Amino acid sequence: MATLNLLPDAAQLDLINLTIDHVTHEITATTATTAVEAPCPLCQEPSRRVHSRYKRQWADLPCCGQSVRWIVEVRRFRCQNPGCSRKIF
Ligand SMILES: [Zn+2]
Repeated sequence: MATLNLLPDAAQLDLINLTIDHVTHEITATTATTAVEAPCPLCQEPSRRVHSRYKRQWADLPCCGQSVRWIVEVRRFRCQNPGCSRKIF
């Protein structure tokens, strides 16, 4: 059974910036993934070839009465297995 990973492994995240907006009462944590390679979810071949980067954002439960927003910069990799039908993951 395949697993669905919506979020990167927390052990492979770097905290880039943490801001507290005292006007909007919002905490924003900006992170980036640190893994140098990732396995293709279809063929399991590891890849280091980065295709692109994008940011995911979501709201978390409030902390100390302030809303919390996470921004995670994640990468898309190219599958380097020529026999695999998945090109980008
Ligand atoms: Zn693959």
